[in-house]
Order: sequence, then C-alpha cells, then structure tokens
Amino acid sequence: MLTVQAFAFNPVQENTYLLYNEKGQCCIIDPGCYFPAEAQELTGFIGSTGLTPVLLLQTHCHFDHIFGTALVSRTFSLVPHMHRLEQAFLDLGPASAQKWNIPFPDPYTGETSYVDEGAAIRLGDDELHVLFTPGHSPGSLSFYSKENKFVIAGDVLFNGGVGRTDLPGSDFTVLEESIRTKLYTLPADVIVYPGHGDSTTIGDEMKGNPFVKMM
Ligand SMILES: [Zn+2]
Ligand SMILES: [Zn+2]
Repeated sequence: MLTVQAFAFNPVQENTYLLYNEKGQCCIIDPGCYFPAEAQELTGFIGSTGLTPVLLLQTHCHFDHIFGTALVSRTFSLVPHMHRLEQAFLDLGPASAQKWNIPFPDPYTGETSYVDEGAAIRLGDDELHVLFTPGHSPGSLSFYSKENKFVIAGDVLFNGGVGRTDLPGSDFTVLEESIRTKLYTLPADVIVYPGHGDSTTIGDEMKGNPFVKMM
C-alpha cells in the first residue's frame, strides 16, 4: 500500500510527489523544490515522518521538475532515474530556466540511470509500471501503480488540460496518441496525479477533457 504526498513547489507551482509504504520506504518523484523553505519543507517532511528515500524518479526533465534533483540526490545518495531522451533537458535545465528569467542555483550534473517502458520499478512490495508517454517532452514517462490505482503523469495529462506542446521537442499529435493509448486505456477509477494542478481520474478526463476527447 502506497501513500501519496504532494507538494507544490517553485515559481511555476510544480507538483513534487513522495510515495511511501508502511515500512517507511519512500520514492521521490520530480523534486521541484526551489526556495530554501521548500527544500526544508521536503526534507523536513521526510525527517519528521521517519521516511527513508530509496528511489528518485523523473517523469521528465523540464527545469521546473529538476530544481531540487541535485539536493535530493546529494542528501539521500540517490541517482535520478529517467528516460534517456530526457538527458539533454536535464543538461540544459539552467539555460532553459534562464529563458524564463529564473536563475537555477543548483543544477544536477551527476550520473543518471535510464528506464524504459515496460520496466517495473519496485518500492518494497509495491510496483510502479513505467509507461512511455511522449509528446509534451520526448522522453516523458508516467508511473502507474495498478494495485494502488494511481498514475503519476508528469505534464502529460492535467485536470481539464494537457501538457504544453509549444516547447522544444513537443508534439501535440504524439501527446494525444500517448494519452489515448497509454492513459485512457487504464481503468476509469485510476487517480491521475499531474505535474501541475489538482489530481483527477482517468474516467473524468475521458469524459470531460477538452483537449483529448475519446474517439
Ligand atoms: Zn514539462
Ligand atoms: Zn512542468
């Protein structure tokens, strides 16, 4: 059984997620903490609940999802796991943040570990299934827990929206295909935890999402 804890961090209000089990093993996804108080909020929560971070995952590596990757990697001795097509975005994080006039004080330059669709990532007794869901970013991954009925969808599918496709490497047709074939094929009661904004369900988006409708 996994518990999901969400934090909204940084100037663009990105959702950072912690997943943890009853043994206190914890997975950190898309650490976007930017301001010192946000880093303190994240590490403080982990410390006060007695969690042991054992896994660091990236749905993708746009700058708003990696502001805290170096801190988390350093603090908990974790290597970020991501799709290989996101390496370039990780490396370009500071430059792309600069285009938004946001300084990037602590970029991650260490080693990375690549994961592909079909991989099953274990957190104790629980499993996260890796779905390849490109379109917003070329290497976007979604992490699906069948048993716990949720999917961490990054910036692919939002509550009433979808990820931007006007960014370098974005493609709406590819995004639409990812949502239709990888996400809308999940059970309707699966909770979607997106990279920005409130959670939703697969069923609600299939019924009401104005950008990607059911065929
Ligand atoms: Zn993004
Ligand atoms: Zn984002």
